[in-house]
Amino acid sequence: MAAVAQKLTPIPNLERISERVIRILGCNSRPMTLQGTNTYLVGTGSKRILIDTGDPGVPDYIKNLKKALKDFQTSIQEIVITHHHVDHVGGVQDVCCNLLQSSDLNVSKFCRPEGNKEYDIGFPYNFVDDNTVFKTDGATLRAIFTPGHSDDHMVLFLEEENAVFSGDTILGETTAMFNDLHTYMASLNRILQLNPSVIYPSHGPVIPNPTEKVTNYINHRLARERQIEEQLGEDPNTWLTSRELVERIYVGLADGLKNAANTNVCQHLQKLVKDGKVESMEKDGTQLWKKKCQSNM
Ligand SMILES: [Zn+2]
Repeated sequence: MAAVAQKLTPIPNLERISERVIRILGCNSRPMTLQGTNTYLVGTGSKRILIDTGDPGVPDYIKNLKKALKDFQTSIQEIVITHHHVDHVGGVQDVCCNLLQSSDLNVSKFCRPEGNKEYDIGFPYNFVDDNTVFKTDGATLRAIFTPGHSDDHMVLFLEEENAVFSGDTILGETTAMFNDLHTYMASLNRILQLNPSVIYPSHGPVIPNPTEKVTNYINHRLARERQIEEQLGEDPNTWLTSRELVERIYVGLADGLKNAANTNVCQHLQKLVKDGKVESMEKDGTQLWKKKCQSNM
């Protein structure tokens, strides 16, 4: 999922983007998925690893994936899922019934925290631990726990290319959504520490300058936080809703993207409350926010 609309770089339905990586577009473009979900076939042999499967019920995607397997004379060894959102895991059953000879295929992912529902793929997942390695001819992929966009998020480090499949943590265009800002920032730093040469994101084009991109993401969040503080500081005695802050900060944002912007603003506000800079109260079922008074000033 992405946050802001802009003119997007076209992505072909099927493209070999490196010696061992083929990108197949999920054909599920909408504001929150940008050009659609990028799925990746990784390896060089007669069986390869598929990262993510796009949305359910997209015949064009299955057609393109079939073509990729035929063109490169390969089949699917196993599926690895970056996180539980439907535009990543939703296509598993379509892939399984249309493209597999046998049904005993591993679909691996990180388990969500207890009490959180997994997307139902009709058979059990193979839940893996942080740093699990997936191997196939020509490719070694290490699973790295990077929550923040979602509570189960995985990025995959491709050793042979010093590349990172970043899932929805870093996108090729625009900025990402997150459900927990604190863990999200830690995950951005974890990706930065891998010092990758290239990032293959789940949405948008290949990122050739990972360090610059990830640093921009971190700076963008810090700048957003400052903007929120500034808005609240303009009239320190007024309580504002997060929606009012969205209107002031995201000037000209399309209506369809305002909920996403609001989610991000709420995350920042909660972090600022934790930091002791903002206070919050509920009035008539609406959460209100205001800059915290400095009592000893
Ligand atoms: Zn996504």
